[in-house]
Amino acid sequence: MGSSFFVYSIVQYISMETIVSLIKAAETWNSVENQCLEILGEFKWINGFICENCKGQKFKVNKDFSRKCTDCKKSYSPIQTTLLIQPELD
Ligand SMILES: [Zn+2]
Repeated sequence: MGSSFFVYSIVQYISMETIVSLIKAAETWNSVENQCLEILGEFKWINGFICENCKGQKFKVNKDFSRKCTDCKKSYSPIQTTLLIQPELD
């Protein structure tokens, strides 16, 4: 019984069930994260999408739920907050 047996014992100790549940947890977290981004995006552009750069209204939704202006190709993240009104400090 050499070191390979020891490694085998550890692999046995971490059961397949544990590995599967860890993978499932990671997948669930991913989908939860995606759902949050999707919802945030819906709220951010609830009144419609207007590109801050070119005022274009046509967009494409990327895989990460950011919206990309089809005219000037500028991307907007649903989690990135943009200040539309900047107070002037005099
Ligand atoms: Zn644009």
